[in-house]
Amino acid sequence: MNSQSPLQILIAGGGIAGLATGVACATAGHLVRVYERSQHFTEAGAGIQLGPNVTRILRDWSLLDAVQALAVQPDCLLIRDTKSGRSLGQLSLKGRADARYGAPYLTVHRADLHACLLAGLRERADVFCHTGRAVVNATDDDTEGVTLTLADDQMVQGDVLVAADGLWSELRSLACQDGAPVATGHVAYRALIKTSDLPPHLRASAVTVWLGPHVHVVQYPVRGGELMNVVVIAAGEPLADAFDWSNRAPTRAVYQAVGGVCVDLAGTLDAAGATDNGWLAWQLFDRPPVAGPDSLYKGRVALLGDAAHPMRPYLAQGAGMAIEDANALATVLPSDPSAVSQSLFRYANIRWARVARVQQKAKQNGDVFHATGLKRLGRDLAMRMLGSRLIDQPWLYG
Ligand SMILES: Cc1cc2nc3c(=O)[nH]c(=O)nc-3n(C[C@H](O)[C@H](O)[C@H](O)COP(=O)(O)OP(=O)(O)OC[C@H]3O[C@@H](n4cnc5c(N)ncnc54)[C@H](O)[C@@H]3O)c2cc1C
Repeated sequence: MNSQSPLQILIAGGGIAGLATGVACATAGHLVRVYERSQHFTEAGAGIQLGPNVTRILRDWSLLDAVQALAVQPDCLLIRDTKSGRSLGQLSLKGRADARYGAPYLTVHRADLHACLLAGLRERADVFCHTGRAVVNATDDDTEGVTLTLADDQMVQGDVLVAADGLWSELRSLACQDGAPVATGHVAYRALIKTSDLPPHLRASAVTVWLGPHVHVVQYPVRGGELMNVVVIAAGEPLADAFDWSNRAPTRAVYQAVGGVCVDLAGTLDAAGATDNGWLAWQLFDRPPVAGPDSLYKGRVALLGDAAHPMRPYLAQGAGMAIEDANALATVLPSDPSAVSQSLFRYANIRWARVARVQQKAKQNGDVFHATGLKRLGRDLAMRMLGSRLIDQPWLYG
């Protein structure tokens, strides 16, 4: 708890990054205002994996029990071949993550994580959450603080602006002028299946990663095991609406992307195609890894989450890095408003190399996942020989 005068923290964006920042800063005793552009706080209907590096922070914020009550602790991470169905490698998760890293590995519905963060935020004192309020501009003055302009021309003053406005952040340019995110050339197809609609042998409480040439598929249970989240990621043409997370996609497009598959994977893909929503597609974008602290802040403006460092989802850490950012930011914030700029430099200095490494590693993982020919054979051999040692990520979770 901050025993001296609290700062007024203004947060643009009420996604996972913005809400996590609100929780962290309110826990540290600051005054928090979150401005979300949409009329309601919402999250897409997809799953999210939370490594022990993230669940440890949720525990510090007293939110782990609430998240865990809605999540699943999968038994293991299982890597299989899309075509033969053969197991390529395995890493135990349940129990092992706790024993080795001091916190569990969880899979959760994004909306459930988002709802827990929102409930945790609202429980804390001196927090104001505003929906239907887009931040359209901000000015930063060393003595006066930051002044936001909202879409209805209302002005709001504070000590810090956290730009957590996502991949297509407009506020990013206050700290970093590097143009728009770049299309990776991949499309993600997602579906949520009622677990009871799957044959019993396809209901494993595991994170299963299926690897094939130019494609991979990830499936895991969420919402206490009630739903199975499935995501197919493959090279693909740009979609009609690059901003939309929910472009409808016919099942045949998914099969075309995946190619020939084994019986087990076909069973899951068929069940996904038969759900009410069917397959929903979105295009993937990222940015090059963060190059230094100056890319994460300027003056009293801090960039956080996808606004700061969008990444490919092949290490399942985008939201995790946002939660780590939020924790780091709250740790360095001063009680003296005149010291904000120095403290944001500290935040940027703590975070930039870590997120750059995760961005880089996520990209490399994509190349390994989608490998073909000799590279693919080498990958499978390495996994057979090194097993869990190759799959575990102590540098990330520890
Ligand atoms: C296929 C896929 C799988 C993934 N799996 C995982 C995973 O397993 N684990 C993991 O950790 N991460 C995963 N991620 C990454 C993760 O989803 C993102 O990194 C994370 O959701 C980003 O959150 P955010 O709050 O920064 O951005 P967003 O969720 O985009 O939120 C930004 C918010 O800001 C609002 N906003 C925008 N502009 C304004 C404005 N001007 N004023 C006010 N509000 C504004 C938006 O409406 C939105 O609510 C995955 C991503 C993909 C694509």
